[in-house]
Amino acid sequence: MSDLTNAIVSQRIEVASGLIVLRVKPDGWDLPQWKSGQFGILGLPVSAQRIRLSDPEEAELKPDKLIKRAYSISSSSEEKDYLEFFITLVHSGALTPRLFHLQPGDRVFMGQRISGLFTLDQIPEGNNLVFIGTGTGLAPYMSMLRGELDCHPNLQTAVLLGARHSWDLGYRGELIAMQRFCSTFHYMPVISRPEEEIVAWSGQTGYVQSLWESEEFEKTWGGRPSPDNTHIMLCGNPAMIEGMMESLAAEGFQEHTKKSPGQVHVEKYW
Ligand SMILES: Cc1cc2nc3c(=O)[nH]c(=O)nc-3n(C[C@H](O)[C@H](O)[C@H](O)COP(=O)(O)OP(=O)(O)OC[C@H]3O[C@@H](n4cnc5c(N)ncnc54)[C@H](O)[C@@H]3O)c2cc1C
Repeated sequence: MSDLTNAIVSQRIEVASGLIVLRVKPDGWDLPQWKSGQFGILGLPVSAQRIRLSDPEEAELKPDKLIKRAYSISSSSEEKDYLEFFITLVHSGALTPRLFHLQPGDRVFMGQRISGLFTLDQIPEGNNLVFIGTGTGLAPYMSMLRGELDCHPNLQTAVLLGARHSWDLGYRGELIAMQRFCSTFHYMPVISRPEEEIVAWSGQTGYVQSLWESEEFEKTWGGRPSPDNTHIMLCGNPAMIEGMMESLAAEGFQEHTKKSPGQVHVEKYW
């Protein structure tokens, strides 16, 4: 494999079909300081093997070319030994079928720079926080919850997470435990294909957009969240982000930009 690889897979957890948690350790260099919510770069050469589940590759690529993509980090920023990533398989994709073939001990490229503005620095102190995501869009929130956010006695934090099936809800046990230990933290998963569940699902069904508008969310939150004291983070699927932006605008929330501060912070995955 290409000598551009500079890191080693230290753990690989198969969460569900097409979903993995990958821990990657730098080999011979130190991780830089970084903030929860930021992303790193993973890469593999074209010559790296693809998993069998994936579609055959159509384009002819040079075997030594390095394919690189951005991945939000899900580990705590206090963890100095490795970065953890939560990755979904894109069957027709260039990199993910190769990443899914990796096993502990295998070599991979990991960028030495960590970047991104989707961090808690954007949130003025004294605000409640609602983290809304689909699938692996949970990754940056896991990092924030694991490292930089304490359980606040008065300020509320909620995770509204959408997935197709209950088994696609990553880090579920950890989030349920956080909720048990912190009365101001709410974990609200929602699944869109309840008819495919093996054991009947008694939780919320539909999409995160409908969960945000639901009575169930209002009951848990204690009313409607207000732009006066609540910031919203949106991460993952662009269609979800577009839908949420419409609902949020109708309730007086505005997207945050450098020039015009608002309460909605966005990280699109594609
Ligand atoms: C800032 C940032 C952070 C990201 N963090 C994550 C992360 O934490 N976990 C993660 O799995 N991905 C993440 N991504 C997406 C990731 O960078 C790749 O785009 C993705 O893994 C597909 O790569 P690929 O080479 O296999 O597919 P490509 O050959 O690049 O094909 C890309 C196409 O696949 C589709 N696609 C891309 N991502 C997805 C997806 N997640 N689900 C369904 N379809 C998709 C889109 O149609 C896109 O045009 C992030 C992207 C950005 C910009």
